[in-house]
Amino acid sequence: MILLVEDDVAIGSAIHQGLTARGFPIHWLRRGADLLDQAAGGAVSVVILDLGLPDGDGLDLCRALRAAGHRMPVLMLTARGTLDDRLEGFEAGTDDYLPKPFAFAELVARITVLARRAEELPPALIHFGSLSVDRAKGQIIRHDTALTMEPKAHAVLLQLAIQRGALIPRQRLIDTVWGKESSISDNTLDVTISILRRRLSQLAPEFTVRAVKGHGVQLVCDLIP
Ligand code: CA
Repeated sequence: MILLVEDDVAIGSAIHQGLTARGFPIHWLRRGADLLDQAAGGAVSVVILDLGLPDGDGLDLCRALRAAGHRMPVLMLTARGTLDDRLEGFEAGTDDYLPKPFAFAELVARITVLARRAEELPPALIHFGSLSVDRAKGQIIRHDTALTMEPKAHAVLLQLAIQRGALIPRQRLIDTVWGKESSISDNTLDVTISILRRRLSQLAPEFTVRAVKGHGVQLVCDLIP
């Protein structure tokens, strides 16, 4: 779904009608204040964000969106069009920029590109049984309770969850999480795994990390045979 944030009724309704007619599901917000709630609901593929909103600045909203961990593409609409404005927009986390007035065909072309890019993004949440790992926020979530993890423990868990319980060789895990050039010791991985086990026992005690000597490491759940 495309989320349009635009207070100008004439521009907003033209975009809403035009994109609906071209088969894009779209939801129109008149106020910036509702953007974060809507984005948190998921299913937003692209945001079209007006720079000048009555209840706030579009760039501040975009920064808040990124700070909350949302990575969907943002197209900024603005009456201003200087290079500084554009640079400030990119710095705030926008992906593209369209000065008003614009040709509708150009908006459609840019939205199409951004929507395609959004589809290529890996999912923000990786699920394994009742456990979800939030890539962007560094959290694990179970039954509406979220726990923020130590970054490396989170990165290890993410890899284990992506493999859906399959064994991952220790060296591959180290290369992925710390990088191929790193020279961390086996002990560092063990310490990280024990942090991860402790976090899992706090939030989701039926899950743990099993180390199989000579084979690797896997995420296991008592409830998943
Ligand atoms: Ca406006």
